[in-house]
Amino acid sequence: MNYISTRQTGKPEEICTASKAIMRGLAPDGGLYVPDSIPSLDASGIRELCKMDYAERAARVLSWFLNDYTEEELLEDCKAAYRASAFPGGPAPLVRARDGVYALELWHGPTAAFKDMALQIMPRLLSRALGKNGETRTALILVATSGDKGKAALEGYKDIPQIRIQVFYPEKGVSRVQQLQMATQTGDNVSVCAIRGNFDDAQSGVKAIFSDRTFAKTLNARGTFLSSANSINWGRLAPQIVYYISAYCDLLNRGEIKGTGESVDFCVPTGNFGNIFAAYLAKRMGLPIRRLICASNRNDVLTEFFSTGRYDRKREFHLTMSPSMDILISSNLERLLWAVTGPEKTAACMEQLRASGEYTVDRESMDRIREVFTGFSADESQTAKTIRTYFEKYGYLCDTHTAVALSAADRYLQETGSKVPLIVDSTASPYKFAADVCASLDPDAGKPEPLDALDVLKARTGTEIPYPLAGIGNRAVRFTRVADAADMPKEVLAFAEA
Ligand SMILES: *Cc1c(COP(=O)(O)O)cnc(C)c1O
Repeated sequence: MNYISTRQTGKPEEICTASKAIMRGLAPDGGLYVPDSIPSLDASGIRELCKMDYAERAARVLSWFLNDYTEEELLEDCKAAYRASAFPGGPAPLVRARDGVYALELWHGPTAAFKDMALQIMPRLLSRALGKNGETRTALILVATSGDKGKAALEGYKDIPQIRIQVFYPEKGVSRVQQLQMATQTGDNVSVCAIRGNFDDAQSGVKAIFSDRTFAKTLNARGTFLSSANSINWGRLAPQIVYYISAYCDLLNRGEIKGTGESVDFCVPTGNFGNIFAAYLAKRMGLPIRRLICASNRNDVLTEFFSTGRYDRKREFHLTMSPSMDILISSNLERLLWAVTGPEKTAACMEQLRASGEYTVDRESMDRIREVFTGFSADESQTAKTIRTYFEKYGYLCDTHTAVALSAADRYLQETGSKVPLIVDSTASPYKFAADVCASLDPDAGKPEPLDALDVLKARTGTEIPYPLAGIGNRAVRFTRVADAADMPKEVLAFAEA
């Protein structure tokens, strides 16, 4: 298997190996990398995976996609990534939320949110890719963050050979918890710096550094090149396929479904469309998935797309209590368009999106997409109500993103009367969004301060604070640097020379 671009229309020289796709991130024509064939998973393959633990399942599934990595290499990396010390609750436990509805909890890792599932393994894949492609320089990952993404990247890249990571955040633009999480980051290859300004200043600064050719030469002379921790990287998407297959194995092992012929539905709280596209690939491989329910918050561009076939980003942007889903352009939707309509139409849609902010997919393709996908959106009050109902009625405590999905799942079950097991991706610990979860549980009590909210939620629900967030106020602060945005290149150079 090789990798091609979603927009590639017959330029075979751009076909590349998995490790090259991971090193490059974006394809040269601006498209996203996709595999040129989809491995097939049959009943005996599923039964074999059932006997394995999560790391073994991950290594086996990844070996089908990553053509120039050996299964031994992948097993070593997966065991290191999904180690018990990083995922004390297990990498992807499947928990019964209520009758017929399961929560696939993807937040037991080092930052208490689901990005860890990919960011714990992707840096190891990148590090190997450098070796496989004869790259001897150090890769410097630069990230501008308004909060959680930077922390998840720091945890993923820390102490990975031949890679260093530097994170910039706006001095006054992140929460106190997020700031403490970054300032206390461990690892010998990491650097964290606050910027005087807002998130846009930090992001523009990083973009300017990436496009500065002279600066690249300066870094090159110091044996360093720049790389991004981009969410569209194939190395972040592939590991997400694993937990869909693993969840199905867990249901089989527990006897909650009877045989490999039985189907399940998945409901995914969606932002950039990466997570749900991984589910689609698992289905295309042969995993018995019937429907995929795409859950959105008030930013319902995808809900409208699945119902009308029109993707229109020209709309009001809402800030919600599920911020990781506050998105107007779901980049990974391009991969679905490619899979259903092919590269020519995908390239045309993406050009329309760039030029006019919208595109429309033809009727026949939309019919095929709707055979699998259906969209629902939940506003803020539906989200809050779902948090309350699931806790009071079913004893299941969820975060704000998961609540958007559970709200969608409830309405889907009500509309269809489905009796097929429904698995909902739970993408963050309730403690990660503790203040909003508290306010949803007790609307009249008001919203607690972020640092107090952890203890308030613990006392209110009798649940445990996950290890990444417990005792955050008592950890040693390592990074206190604050710089002007204009001085970011100097900061990068100093780190590269350190
Ligand atoms: C990133 C994120 C999502 C959205 O996932 P996509 O792959 O971008 O669709 C949902 N919930 C949480 C908590 C996230 O961090």
